[in-house]
Amino acid sequence: MPETRSGGGKIVAIVNQKGGVGKTTTAINLGAALADQGKRVAIIDLDPQGNASTGLGIEIDRRQLSTYDLLLENIPLAEVLQDCAIENLQVVPATSDLSSADIEMVSKGQRTTLLKSALRGSAIEGLDFVLIDCPPSLSLLTVNAMVAAHSVLVPLQSEFFALEGLSQLMLTIREVRASANPDLAIEGVVLTMYDGRNKLAQGVLADAKETLGELVFDTIIPRNVRVSEAPSFAQPVLYYDPASKGSLAYRALAHEFVARDQV
Ligand code: ADP
Ligand code: MG
Repeated sequence: MPETRSGGGKIVAIVNQKGGVGKTTTAINLGAALADQGKRVAIIDLDPQGNASTGLGIEIDRRQLSTYDLLLENIPLAEVLQDCAIENLQVVPATSDLSSADIEMVSKGQRTTLLKSALRGSAIEGLDFVLIDCPPSLSLLTVNAMVAAHSVLVPLQSEFFALEGLSQLMLTIREVRASANPDLAIEGVVLTMYDGRNKLAQGVLADAKETLGELVFDTIIPRNVRVSEAPSFAQPVLYYDPASKGSLAYRALAHEFVARDQV
């Protein structure tokens, strides 16, 4: 365990500036699988679209306090965290007012460290993992996540152009390291929506391994219709269909994630 993690859990930003690559799905299902292992997990929904909140059954009328309040109203984490139907898993929900947060943050002195301040010290003491579901951009919200985090987890969709945005993402990680968070690690890259019969997907996997080596998780998340159905039932796939390939893959990812963490 890195020394920088005294007194609290590990904060992991789930980042990829492309939309639709599996960030939210990974936040929800990795979070649920870790919670199922008995880890105490919080998911911070940092995307104004609020898909992680919806996918975990936090309805709009239960979002009086949200990530916006955590970032811009100085409301403590303990007050914005909400229980969901899953034991050991809590959520800070997002509302659409988060979409103006970027602009509002610009006028603040400590604009890149707002989330870091909110998660500092005793705020995360009782938690093993804090997973931050980032919006599909490298905006100030995502930078806040990277500044607050111990590591970055990158879902990579197994399709053409998948690796294209990575150099920009790596550049942003280097900038964050140079300016505000020198210890920011890369947790790893997880291939999502993988169809092993598809030559293109096989090519993406091979390219990712060649370019990123050990950073690529051994666990690969297959394309699985049950994974895509689960959010409309406001459940992680682990609960919606525990025996599905998607569930098994996310459980395996959680095991690999914890095992790597202990090295
Ligand atoms: P992001 O948060 O990066 O925008 P999402 O996690 O919302 O991406 O995923 C985009 C879409 O793909 C969603 O409709 C989601 O249900 C679907 N999806 C994600 N992972 C899988 C998977 N393994 N199999 C099938 N569909 C998936
Ligand atoms: Mg998302």
